[in-house]
Amino acid sequence: MIDKNRRSLVLAAGGALAAGTMGSAGAWAQAAGGGAERKLGYAVVGLGSYGLGMIIPQFKNCKNSRLVGLVSGDPAKAKRVAAEYGVPEKNIYNYQNYDSIRDNPDIDIVYVCLPVSMHAEYTIRAAKAGKHVMCEKPMAVSSAECEAMIAACRQAGKKLMIGYRCHFEPTNLEAIRRARAGEIGKLRYFRSEHGFNFGNPDAWRLKKAMSGGGSLMDMGIYALNASRYMTGEEPVAVYAVESTDKKDPRFREVEDRIAFELEFPSGVIGSCMSMYSAAQNHILLMGDKGRIELEPATAYHGNKLWVGNGHGDDKNEVTPPPGPGATQWAGQLDHLSQCVLQNREPIVGGEEGLRDIRIIEAIYRSAREKRRIALGPDARMV
Ligand code: NAD
Repeated sequence: MIDKNRRSLVLAAGGALAAGTMGSAGAWAQAAGGGAERKLGYAVVGLGSYGLGMIIPQFKNCKNSRLVGLVSGDPAKAKRVAAEYGVPEKNIYNYQNYDSIRDNPDIDIVYVCLPVSMHAEYTIRAAKAGKHVMCEKPMAVSSAECEAMIAACRQAGKKLMIGYRCHFEPTNLEAIRRARAGEIGKLRYFRSEHGFNFGNPDAWRLKKAMSGGGSLMDMGIYALNASRYMTGEEPVAVYAVESTDKKDPRFREVEDRIAFELEFPSGVIGSCMSMYSAAQNHILLMGDKGRIELEPATAYHGNKLWVGNGHGDDKNEVTPPPGPGATQWAGQLDHLSQCVLQNREPIVGGEEGLRDIRIIEAIYRSAREKRRIALGPDARMV
């Protein structure tokens, strides 16, 4: 029941945001109590490849969000980025004076774009400084950290959202809509492979203390999260098998390939593969009347969607309608701003991130103990 409500919320929110994009912009402004095109101020923490390369350039596509602050350990880089994006120098912080953002009214929301082991600390410090938080996926290195992040934001009365951009991505939203509309009949199974061939063996993603795990934390989480939003169900059990060449210098600390099966209450089976030694980005939904396929499924650009019969010999490529934002990132950034303005909960809040991390912990345990692990309604292992 909870799942059904949550999933219809995803679609409803997508629809509501899309409607906003199409011209009923007054609706949210009214709910927010005025300020027709009010933009909330974001400070981005971590100027790495995702923060600097993907998030910061997206504010120009936003309706309700703007970049007002930067937090970085590299003052020269921060100064350069600030100059490029019109961020005043007084709004540049480092990791030591970060807590003083509490005195800066320009900053409404902090976007945590740091290695996973730093997510909890920088989310909790932001909440204590009185700021709302967008935190990148995976939410944290453990479910205990996720719980502490949720508690800190709740205690501070601040919103917490996880950077699950695919919930704002048109191809994924259209696949969900068609699956829910019964276009492929009764869903039988879900399949997804996510991975890439990792290069640099010194990267933080391969250090367990910083990443919390290997490909599953980074890429497999897309397959896991998609299994939940595509089926609209929550898994009741997992079974996993890991295959890692420990002699490969990349994989001394974390896993390479991990395959996991998910059992859903309706009988739908989810079958996922996560890897750091081969590139794949694919989602398949098989119903008794047809298939929905996405490849690439969760990429930054160029996602493609096909709908067809079960044999795959009449697959038609479908062009999805526009999503809630000009881009998936703009939709994501503006969603949190709108939730703050309207005092609503984000469709992918802390509980969503926590749920994935609990399931990931069960997947790791299943692979270690070579047995099926049952999950309770809150995704805790039972
Ligand atoms: P990155 O290594 O490129 O950047 C990390 C940033 O953290 C850098 O600015 C670095 O200077 C800073 N940092 C501070 N202390 C550090 C330390 N001790 N070690 C290493 N870096 C340190 O990483 P990224 O690819 O930008 O990833 C950042 C976050 O974004 C991660 O949580 C990642 O999972 C997430 N991410 C999400 C997506 C997505 O599509 N949603 C895509 C890529 C990354």
